[in-house]
Amino acid sequence: MQVADRLQKIPPYLFVTLRNKINKARSEGIDVISLGVGDPVDPTPQRVIDELCRQARIPINHQYPIDEEKGMLAFRREVAAWYAKRYGVEVNPEGEVVGLIGSKEGCHHFILGVVNPGDVVLMTDPGYPAYRASIFMASAEPYAMPMLAENDYFPDFERIPADILKRSRAMFLNYPNNPTGACATREFFKRAVAFAKAHDIAICHDNPYSEVVFDGQERLSFLAVPGAKDVGIELNSLSKPYNMTGWRIGMALGNKEILAALCKVKENTDSGIFNAIQYAAIVALREEDENIEKMLGIYLRRRRLVLETLAKIGIEFKPQKGTFYLWIPVPKGMTSLDFTTALFEKAAVVVAAGTAYGQHGEGFVRISLTVPDKRLEEAMERIQKAFGK
Ligand SMILES: *Cc1c(COP(=O)(O)O)cnc(C)c1O
Repeated sequence: MQVADRLQKIPPYLFVTLRNKINKARSEGIDVISLGVGDPVDPTPQRVIDELCRQARIPINHQYPIDEEKGMLAFRREVAAWYAKRYGVEVNPEGEVVGLIGSKEGCHHFILGVVNPGDVVLMTDPGYPAYRASIFMASAEPYAMPMLAENDYFPDFERIPADILKRSRAMFLNYPNNPTGACATREFFKRAVAFAKAHDIAICHDNPYSEVVFDGQERLSFLAVPGAKDVGIELNSLSKPYNMTGWRIGMALGNKEILAALCKVKENTDSGIFNAIQYAAIVALREEDENIEKMLGIYLRRRRLVLETLAKIGIEFKPQKGTFYLWIPVPKGMTSLDFTTALFEKAAVVVAAGTAYGQHGEGFVRISLTVPDKRLEEAMERIQKAFGK
């Protein structure tokens, strides 16, 4: 049977490869600790679960979702209120907010909504692997903008070749950034808006880590800078702040035309989010700020533990201030893959090689802090034992 050519261009999803490696070792009886995947293990807040159960019993919720692909108005209003409260951003729940089946869905449908076959889509390297996959699925062409430590992990728009720029119709940005942890500044977002206006490029700012910031870093929405709504949308998600990755709910906000295009795709593919999940999400957005604070406290503690351990084995660096990942420089003389392999073989600890996020991820590995404390402690003990001097 034929498999579509466009799928051949997509490399195997990083976490599938990781999972296979872990499963193989486990089947051989090795106690593998995975720090590879960013998926909170702590439970969803109880009030949110209770609301889901209550709403799931109401028959009207068993039908197609209210307002289908847009998301129900009550949810869109709560999203608007949350954005006003947390980021000082004003959006109209009619037309400027759409409910999503997670931010990943939004990335994909954004591309299908705004890009023609053969168009170029700008993305950052290193970057979230799903962007590239979505670009290929739309038969468009990715262009990787290097995101380097020496530029504070901001892409340099000036370096994009003129012929590429002419064909570029869309761009992905993502701060706080997965995998580097870098956070944006208002100045950078202003530059991005001006650049997008000058070259007729639609921006998708993917912001699922907006709440996961440390060391006094400001919570920042792309839509907080003037003119952002003219050129782009922002995606956000309940997955990371509320430990709800499995629930599949998020939101898109901003430019009306882009959102209308995205909705047209959704209307013909997924028909929206289960009502009961939208009602439960309203409870999270309205009542669970304290869960965010609690999780930040937990991640901060884990962050310190990892940094201390790394210092003891001679890896010292200044961590970036966002996300629940640490983007760690590998020891001198090693590649990302060398260090990943050494950690696996000497300590049975799995981390993600930086190059899994693009060629400019070379020289780094990514550790996720979304593992139980006990497992992280065990992993750090093993690393210290295996690599300590
Ligand atoms: C986790 C993650 C997502 C996916 O979020 P969902 O809302 O669960 O789909 C999207 N973008 C980035 C950069 C992520 O790290």
